[in-house]
Amino acid sequence: MFENLSERLSGVFDKLTKQGALSEDDVKTALREVRIALLEADVSLPVARDFVATVQAKATGQAVTKSITPGQQVVKIVHDELQRVLTGDEDPGALKIDNPPAPILMVGLQGSGKTTTTAKLAKRLKERDGKKVLMASLDTNRPAAMEQLAILGMQIGVDTLPIVAGETPVQIAKRAKVQASLGGYDVYMLDTAGRLHIDAELIAQAAAVRDVANPRETLLVVDGLTGQDAVNVAQEFDDKIGVTGVVLTRMDGDGRGGAALSMRAITGKPIRFVGLGEKMDAIETFEPQRIAGRILGMGDIVALVEKAQETIEAEQAARMMKRFQQGRFNMNDLKMQLEQMLKMGGMEGMMGMMPGAAKMGKQMAAAGMDDGILKRQIALINSMTKKERANPDLLAASRKKRIAAGAGLEVSELNKLIKQHRQMADMMKKMGKGGMLKQAMKGMF
Ligand code: GDP
Repeated sequence: MFENLSERLSGVFDKLTKQGALSEDDVKTALREVRIALLEADVSLPVARDFVATVQAKATGQAVTKSITPGQQVVKIVHDELQRVLTGDEDPGALKIDNPPAPILMVGLQGSGKTTTTAKLAKRLKERDGKKVLMASLDTNRPAAMEQLAILGMQIGVDTLPIVAGETPVQIAKRAKVQASLGGYDVYMLDTAGRLHIDAELIAQAAAVRDVANPRETLLVVDGLTGQDAVNVAQEFDDKIGVTGVVLTRMDGDGRGGAALSMRAITGKPIRFVGLGEKMDAIETFEPQRIAGRILGMGDIVALVEKAQETIEAEQAARMMKRFQQGRFNMNDLKMQLEQMLKMGGMEGMMGMMPGAAKMGKQMAAAGMDDGILKRQIALINSMTKKERANPDLLAASRKKRIAAGAGLEVSELNKLIKQHRQMADMMKKMGKGGMLKQAMKGMF
């Protein structure tokens, strides 16, 4: 499956060998194939369509980095966008398990890997987080499932709630809670019953258990091999029971990573873990980068483009340094510096990296020079003409007024910027002579 996808994309991208900026036609041709490929990887139609439209907008007109082909550049853009869509705000592996005993509800269809995943997570919590975990099976319809959890518990050295015949799932959940409190457990995991399909009884039962257990996490286990079905199941479980995350199992086979993309885009629920085999250690936290690479299957090209971009940044830095050493530090340079500072966590963060400038950074911070100022200063430089940027000494009073007004700021702010530029130019020159500049700039690029 993935080989096909890679091959298909390679075929298209090999045809794009022109250098320069990406034309709309280039991008369109390439993305038509990307769309088909995504559909074949089990990404749902609306998600694939939206995805391609976003990439189209981002890629068209983008300059092609020297030493790579336009096709390679499109691959990188597709890859980055895949990763962006797959990445949530939270750390997927961080389960909410404060306030012991913390209940975790496991839900999903029969055969999805729910019981196996329950045990895998229990083992992980025990070994990685040092937690004392209790597992309980609520599958009163299938005694074999209850036995299975008990056997897994013994294998991994995690306690299971003793089986009492004739109890309802709600009664078991209540007993698990009592046992977890009395026994000093940090976490108790409730492995609910599964069915082959979602039906009213299954949902009613899971909802009743949810209401008594009040779980900190409700994890839905779905079979990653079922593609679009997995997404439908997730949507329904989330609508009816509410889930805090998804575990995609069987991602060790020729699992179609596409389900992950649709899952995120359609349900909005984060994928927290992926199951990678039958063994008790075969579980990992969800890594968007890995799945993006898997859907695209073109890791080499992505690495190549990153390398090419790094090389170009390094060349730029070297050229800049040479100019600074000659005392040629203009407003464009200052703008680049300011933008770099914003990227690197603001004024104090960057000044901390420059050996000669730590003190200056503190003074600036003390004087209220925060990121807002950086942005205002960039706006001021943007309002200058090309000539003025190259030589700020040209700035007459009337132009200063215009520039400040253009950026919506006072002339005094512009004067401050000009003064700062002069000080920095002097400092760069001095540092350049002492060889300190080279050292300082190493940390910046
Ligand atoms: P349940 O009915 O949802 O509780 O499913 P089980 O936990 O009993 O799992 C059903 C089968 O799938 C078992 O044979 C598991 O070993 C297997 N299984 C579970 N997770 C994975 C996985 O991530 N990869 C693979 N290859 N097999 C898995």
